[in-house]
Amino acid sequence: MKLLEERKKVVQYCQLLLKSGLTKGTGGNISIYAPSENCVAISPSGVPYDSLKPEDIVLIDIDGNKIEGNYKPSSEWAMHTEVYKQKPRMKSVVHTHSVFAKTLSCLREDLPAISYLVAVAGKKVACAQYASFGTQELANNALAAMTDSKAVLLANHGLLAAGETVEEAFNIAEEIELCAEVYIRARGVGSPVILDDTEMDYMLERFKSYGKPS
Ligand code: 13P
Ligand code: ZN
Repeated sequence: MKLLEERKKVVQYCQLLLKSGLTKGTGGNISIYAPSENCVAISPSGVPYDSLKPEDIVLIDIDGNKIEGNYKPSSEWAMHTEVYKQKPRMKSVVHTHSVFAKTLSCLREDLPAISYLVAVAGKKVACAQYASFGTQELANNALAAMTDSKAVLLANHGLLAAGETVEEAFNIAEEIELCAEVYIRARGVGSPVILDDTEMDYMLERFKSYGKPS
């Protein structure tokens, strides 16, 4: 089977999406890009995660044409391929409906630098303009709000995170959800202090070597 390792990883991380509470039902989607094969392994549209098998993962090219698979690719395939077209270092995309990121996106607010952890994505995570799910317009709006960041809030919808690996994209989705939760809880009892630009520049530098061999 073509791209078997990538398909297995998509299954593994889709199941982790549910287990970690980052989504419910069939919400969210995950892809991994293999540029040498001009091929994206993406979760199928509307298929329950706990029944997923590697052969259910759909292979599409960078323009969304189906290469292999019985199911339809995720309805958000354009949002995934647009990341790979516009951000060549990114090789995986994770989209979630996590509760606190989604809550902030319903307020149409950006996530500011509430914690140094926001720097896993950038200096902040912006909220993109609203568009219907599964449209090219949503893909365009997401990318427009994602120029300086590896993550973006999708208005009234959820979160999109990109990484050089699926491990990185998933970690960003988890950490940004944590930061969104802390931000909303802090706002509930007071006025949270936001880290300044200089500190966040320093944090971005620190994350370049974090978790890498010395
Ligand atoms: P798919 O099942 O088509 O991937 O859609 C889920 C979703 O989150 C749409 O935004
Ligand atoms: Zn969605």
